[in-house]
Amino acid sequence: MITRFEWTNAKSIDDAISQLHDKALPKAGGIDLIDRLKEDLDAPSRLVNIRTIPGLDSVKEEAGWLRIGPLVTLAAIAEHPVIRQHYTALADAALHAATPQIRNAATVGGNLLQRPRCWYFRSDQFHCLRKGGDTCFAQDGENEFHAIFDNEVCAVVHPSAAACALTAFGAKVTVQGKKGKREIALDDLFVRPETDITREHVLDPGELLTEILVPAPSDATRSAYTKLGQKESFDWPIAEVAVVLEPRGGVVSKASIVLGGAAPVPWRASGTEKALVGKPLSEQNAREAAAAAVQGATPRSQNAYKIPVFEAVVRRTILAAGQGA
Ligand SMILES: Cc1cc2nc3c(=O)[nH]c(=O)nc-3n(C[C@H](O)[C@H](O)[C@H](O)COP(=O)(O)OP(=O)(O)OC[C@H]3O[C@@H](n4cnc5c(N)ncnc54)[C@H](O)[C@@H]3O)c2cc1C
Repeated sequence: MITRFEWTNAKSIDDAISQLHDKALPKAGGIDLIDRLKEDLDAPSRLVNIRTIPGLDSVKEEAGWLRIGPLVTLAAIAEHPVIRQHYTALADAALHAATPQIRNAATVGGNLLQRPRCWYFRSDQFHCLRKGGDTCFAQDGENEFHAIFDNEVCAVVHPSAAACALTAFGAKVTVQGKKGKREIALDDLFVRPETDITREHVLDPGELLTEILVPAPSDATRSAYTKLGQKESFDWPIAEVAVVLEPRGGVVSKASIVLGGAAPVPWRASGTEKALVGKPLSEQNAREAAAAAVQGATPRSQNAYKIPVFEAVVRRTILAAGQGA
């Protein structure tokens, strides 16, 4: 049952921040948040609609950064010519999320800050650890879509495709609250369950994400993203991966590889990155590097199938990123 709440339209960032107190929540596209109200996960006193704030829905190239407003929709990211050409993995991550209708409403800021889709967390029948209970029901329950890394405490998978691609590109975000502004690297934005089971990101209550900054790629940068789901129509990924490479003089000089659908946070495949750097982009090297991506995995009773899936998806995405190098 949805409890009554006040609704306000924010006129500016400062106006929104001044209204974000006493259990008020910001609402962007509302795709995640309205579901959470219906699922009784949240009972805010007020929803502050931030879509009415002007100027937060633009994409600009400026002084070595791509600056993306938090209200830019996933559809606009997928179609943006600069993002499509120079940040292909991000355009493809946005393009393959959800459905065309959802992508038209869902914002990139909301996509980063949405809550997990674990069916135990979302169901009012299960008072799981993340909701203050004492059990992660996925450990011994229906866990075929759950995490294969970092899953000892809570086995949710991070839901954001944009987070996977933006982390691979080395992006950071600006957040603003009553105490002022701060910048947070995407690598530091998300919270592992062992650190704090009750939250997924480090924003304080009342803080707004006001900008996403992605460093400009070099001329050598190549990227690719792959999502593998159970079906081709709208579905959450079983496995997704974003690969950003810099091949120079026939060898990989830099590699940034991030897995989604693998862990409670976007999961950096550091073993794969190390295995690729300094080597030519061959089928054999991609295969060996992909094998490193699943080392140390701790699958649960029903999701060991994800290990060969990730290996295949990582290998294919490395080779796709390398095409044209
Ligand atoms: C059927 C279905 C399939 C889906 N498949 C995928 C998929 O494959 N991949 C994927 O990535 N996503 C998928 N999604 C999720 C969807 O993309 C997200 O729910 C959506 O992007 C959230 O964006 P929003 O603007 O609607 O956020 P909202 O629902 O408005 O907000 C989400 C959260 O972020 C907070 N918030 C929003 N903006 C800000 C801000 N600027 N500052 C501070 N806090 C903020 C809100 O308070 C809320 O807690 C799917 C959703 C559905 C329903």
